[in-house]
Amino acid sequence: MGFIKRPYGITSDGVQVDEVTLTNASSMEVKIITYGGIVTSIRTPDRNGEIANVVLGFSSLQDYENPHPYFGAVAGRYANRIAKAKFILDGKTYTLAQNNGENSLHGGTKGLDRRVWTVEESTAGLALTYLSPDGEEGFPGNLVIKVVYSLNDENALQIDYTATTDTPTIINLTNHSYFNLAGEGSGSIENHHLMLNADTYLPVDASLIPTGEIAPVMGTPFDFLIAKAVGAEIRSSHPQMVIGHGYDHNFILNRADNQSLVLAAQLSEPKSGRVLDVLTTEPGIQFYSGDFLTGELIGSSRNIYRQSDGLCLETQHFPDSPNQPHFPSTELRPGNIYQSTTIFKFSVSQTEA
Ligand code: BGC
Repeated sequence: MGFIKRPYGITSDGVQVDEVTLTNASSMEVKIITYGGIVTSIRTPDRNGEIANVVLGFSSLQDYENPHPYFGAVAGRYANRIAKAKFILDGKTYTLAQNNGENSLHGGTKGLDRRVWTVEESTAGLALTYLSPDGEEGFPGNLVIKVVYSLNDENALQIDYTATTDTPTIINLTNHSYFNLAGEGSGSIENHHLMLNADTYLPVDASLIPTGEIAPVMGTPFDFLIAKAVGAEIRSSHPQMVIGHGYDHNFILNRADNQSLVLAAQLSEPKSGRVLDVLTTEPGIQFYSGDFLTGELIGSSRNIYRQSDGLCLETQHFPDSPNQPHFPSTELRPGNIYQSTTIFKFSVSQTEA
């Protein structure tokens, strides 16, 4: 695996940010910056060998420092929402920033997506570390986080997350890349085909917090067990589609145990032939169809991003787990190690789907 590090820019408060480029023997190239651990570009071939960047992003650090919807970033300390920005752990109530209506979203006002991470030497790939101090954004515990990005010659980008704490806390980490397999800035993802390996999903209330119900996908627009076009039912008036302005829901992955890697999703784009398999050790995946992209942001190829110009497949524990005891636990205690792995594997299909 090729590994090149170069200076990327200086943050508005004067901190140097580096960019690391990972390459492999199969024409794939991934760029990651130390600001937010953001994956700024994934260049991968189509069925004719044409290479394109398949993730949304920007071309300058300044753009990433401005408000944006978490393009490519590590989301945490708690990816997704916590209701009313409050949770109780061991009898103590913790209050977080309300940065999404009255809820907490993706770790608060200055989450892991807005921190400068340290590059650690690693033979496996790029290892980024960050120490999130006790009380940062309201979360308890000094949290030592490591995220390792590695790229193999089979075009699999693997992301391994580990973390430890000195005080009981909660944690839920994910990568927030927006994919467009036809190429970043090329238009809507509605013609992409998606398979989600989930018999059930989590309906949400008007503020996108799970109601607690575990609902079958069968007979609803949420049934992706057999691949279908993302746009096939995106305009359905199903009440959950109205709330999400499209898809913005957590799907519960079908899995035999609670730790092995399973195929969570398969995304394909018929014209280019590009295919993305998402494998994960996590129990859920948030499928977000880019519903809140409003044409206000200009991306890395200088095109504006409109609704559904990219989609996220965010592997994670369920939203609001700290307040919903029947969901898998997101607690991390001293002496234990948080571990999570997700693989984004790219390939091509020779036939138009
Ligand atoms: C959430 C969306 C949100 C987006 C950008 C996604 O993970 O599910 O509701 O708009 O992140 O913040």
